[in-house]
Parts: sequence; C-alpha cells; structure tokens
Amino acid sequence: MKSSDNLTEIRSVQQYLYCPHRWGLMETDCSWAENAFVCKGNLAHENVDSGKCLTARNAIIERSVKVYNDDWGLFGVIDCLELRRSPSGCWIEKYGERFDLTIVEYKVRAPKTEDFRREDGMQLLAQKICADGIFKTNCQTFFYYADTRKRVKVEFRKDDYAFLKWTLDEMNALRESAEIPPIKDGQYCGGCSLKDICMPKRGKSRNAKAAKHAVYHSSGSIPEP
Ligand code: SF4
Repeated sequence: MKSSDNLTEIRSVQQYLYCPHRWGLMETDCSWAENAFVCKGNLAHENVDSGKCLTARNAIIERSVKVYNDDWGLFGVIDCLELRRSPSGCWIEKYGERFDLTIVEYKVRAPKTEDFRREDGMQLLAQKICADGIFKTNCQTFFYYADTRKRVKVEFRKDDYAFLKWTLDEMNALRESAEIPPIKDGQYCGGCSLKDICMPKRGKSRNAKAAKHAVYHSSGSIPEP
C-alpha cells in the first residue's frame, strides 16, 4: 500500500489536468470557493450521490460506490455502477450472482467538439482501474451528459494508462515539494470559482519568475522526463 501522502483522490486527477494551478491552490493552499457553476454541478450529482440502489435499463444501479486501488494509489467514488446479469461476468457477493459492470460518470455539459474532455477521460479511467481491480473484471465505461441527455462510450488504450501514470507521478512530486504549478499557457478560466483567489492576470506575471516545473499542456502526449 502507498503512504497516505501518495494517495490521489480520483476527482483531483480531473482537477489537475483541467488547471494544475487551481489544483495546487486547493491541494497545497487549501483554498476553496463556490460559484454558480459549482452549485450546478453539485445539484446534477445530488441524485447520483444519494447512495440509493435502483433498477433501470435491465440493470441494478449502485450509486456512489467507494473504490480504491493500492497499486495506483487511487481512491474515490464512482457516480453510478450498473450491474447486468451475465454468466461470464464477475461474482458480486452482495447479490450472489455474476454481472457485467458498467461505470457511468455524470457531467453537466457535453464538450462541443469532441466526445469527451481528456481530463474527464482520465477521471473515468482512474475509476475503471479501481473497479477492475476490486471486482477482477473489465468494466465498460460511459459518460452521461445532463444537457444533451446522451451517453458516450469510452474505450481506453495503453497510451491512456501510461498518461494517467505519468500524471499521478507528477501530482505526487508536486505534493511532496508543496509546489503550486504555474498557470499553463492558454488556460481557460471561464466559470472557475477560484478566480478571485488566483487573479489569473497577475498570476501570469508571477509565472514568468516561478515556472520551472514541466506541466501538461493538453497535447495528449507524455512529456519527456
Ligand atoms: S482562474 Fe484560471 S488559472 Fe486561476 S485557478 Fe481558475 S482556471 Fe486556473
């Protein structure tokens, strides 16, 4: 098992990849602020976070399933885990039957130009790694977008696992050094609840002096060490 200093909450992977500076403000400075977007996201998750077990789409639906993976140093919550009876599925002790498992991650807004955002994809992959390890299976993975009411299936490749590993190593190194990453070039700040704390325009000039750590710039490639 990893030390508690090297454990990463699944949702913070998404936060880090969206804006490493915002993640650093929350993780190292313990900064937090809410705005309308945060409240909207909380409301959208209210139903799925209720922990209730339902049935729909020929599946048993478990909400807010707590998961972890010691090897990857990950822990967190799966919004929605669907269980479909299958003789070739994994054994679920609670029901005394075999099931195929599907993870569904809820998001408020669908992206405009792609099926899913890379940072959201890494969050979903982290959930899958945890669930696959616990249930000894190969979960299917989907996003559900509340605005379009559509599901999008996601399949992960070797590269995605490597990129997640690189990201977790990067986060652990930053955590150990208590360093807040600089604001990345082209950072989109619309809707960020930490704007008043971050003051991104002033932060840019601070960056010029402080930037020395390699930060992912959303190209999708793993930077050279
Ligand atoms: S205001 Fe922009 S740069 Fe600052 S934390 Fe938010 S998203 Fe990141």
